[in-house]
Amino acid sequence: MHSSSLITACKLCLAVFLLASAGCSDKTTADGESNDHLSLLIVGGTVYNGTNQPPVVTDIGVRRDSIVAIGDLATRDADVRVDATGLAVSPGFIDIHSHAIRENSERSGLLLWPAAENQIRQGVTTVIGGPDGGSPLPISDTLVGLEKNPPTINYGTFVGQGSIRAAVVGEDDRPATADELQRMREEVDLAMRQGAFGLSSGLVYAPGSFAPTEEVIELARVAAEYGGIYISHMRQESSDIIKSVAETIRIGEEAGLPAQITHHKVIGAGMWGKTVDTLAMVDAAVARGVDVSIDQYPYTASSTGLSVLFPQWALDGDRQTRLRRMQDPVEHKRLSAAIQYNLVEDRGGNDPARVVLAECTWDPSLNGLNLTELLQQENRAVTIEEAAELVIELQIKGGCTAVYHAISEEDVLRVMRHPRTMIASDGGVYIPGVGVPHPRNYGSFARVLGHYVREVQHIPLYTAIYKMTRMPADRIGLSDRGRIEVGAIADITIFDPATIIDRATFENPHQYAEGVHYVWVAGEAVLQDGEMTEARPGRVLRAPSTRKY
Ligand SMILES: [Zn+2]
Repeated sequence: MHSSSLITACKLCLAVFLLASAGCSDKTTADGESNDHLSLLIVGGTVYNGTNQPPVVTDIGVRRDSIVAIGDLATRDADVRVDATGLAVSPGFIDIHSHAIRENSERSGLLLWPAAENQIRQGVTTVIGGPDGGSPLPISDTLVGLEKNPPTINYGTFVGQGSIRAAVVGEDDRPATADELQRMREEVDLAMRQGAFGLSSGLVYAPGSFAPTEEVIELARVAAEYGGIYISHMRQESSDIIKSVAETIRIGEEAGLPAQITHHKVIGAGMWGKTVDTLAMVDAAVARGVDVSIDQYPYTASSTGLSVLFPQWALDGDRQTRLRRMQDPVEHKRLSAAIQYNLVEDRGGNDPARVVLAECTWDPSLNGLNLTELLQQENRAVTIEEAAELVIELQIKGGCTAVYHAISEEDVLRVMRHPRTMIASDGGVYIPGVGVPHPRNYGSFARVLGHYVREVQHIPLYTAIYKMTRMPADRIGLSDRGRIEVGAIADITIFDPATIIDRATFENPHQYAEGVHYVWVAGEAVLQDGEMTEARPGRVLRAPSTRKY
């Protein structure tokens, strides 16, 4: 430590000496570029700096990848000058729950469509992947791959508890042995050293769901050693939501790290309104010193695989085991009863029409149909029993993703207003035409700014921007992003607060958001006057805690 600080001190001396000998009037750097020179100058915009404060009208100067000046810069020269009069200038949005890279697919999302136009057109410049307990392992392969073929947007990742459990313990419903627990701890340790921002879990998804709370705490402790966070798609989001929030808080508290309830919602009409209680639990935890936060997508429907309708015992084992179980008459009956319960009380929303197939890769003609329509198409009775049978049949054929309309608008509003809530999409990278995905992929950020800020006036614009920029950046230690300030990386979005809006709907989701005019990533334009450029300036982001290695 002593010798390195001495070296730092000497470097400082040398820098001061060089500056002094160069003379005060000569602001030329070693490579001959004037210190006054700006590569980009944004003038006259209404600047939201990412803090939860009202904006100021001012100018922003960028040199290469960084913001170097803020103030009255009207007389400065620049390679590119953009007049932002009447427009909002904001840090690029940070999506802290992103499926931009799918866990099990090398060629999908950001890897297949590096332009990420559905994200750019919402103003998003950074996505954090590996949510819900699912991440590629090791994460370094994915990160190094992205560095070789950069996309438009920046990418960082969590490491997934479910992926680690699948690799070490397998797909069985049993506790880990002491040896397996140690190996899982080592996997978390490796990922954290490779730059993960923390540990994610998806405790409703097998096989991550087979982990008892204590096991998750053990793994979260490793993430804590590196300054990571714990972010969880909770074990249950309907009848057991209170227990699930308690579990999430307990994991943060006992493992000693910040805990985040991701895409917070309450599923199922019988539980609507329970966000009053869940938010009170968050407040109580924060009051006693536990660092708990929330993220949310702004919709009254969720989206995930059909297996979410299955009870945990039915997900135990490999695919062959599960298939045998679904086809065994006794097990089948028990399974059907459990799925019927979930269709009534949980994600089914007590109406088969509320479950809409998003993507069935084995038969794309089903995409976009709801369970009622599919039953009618097959001349079957529209009942909960038949719908449960249909769900089992679809799962046997290969499964589908689906959209579930079972969240109340009041809960969405209440969660959004909470001071610990940030905005995230839970979406990924899409190009128009593939499946009938949840509109959050195309619209989450624009919908908050256009619908909830402008049309409904639910929260102020500067608060919404804070929830999309500085708040998630600070959460994962990104000290030079999510903010407009001198020294920050120039990830900048310009949009029109009077027109920004999501166009994607549940029926017609492949529609880009409107109202975003410019997006820069590290000072390079990826959206210019409404047109995508060819630039691919996205960077791989690694957690700051690992930079010391
Ligand atoms: Zn999730």
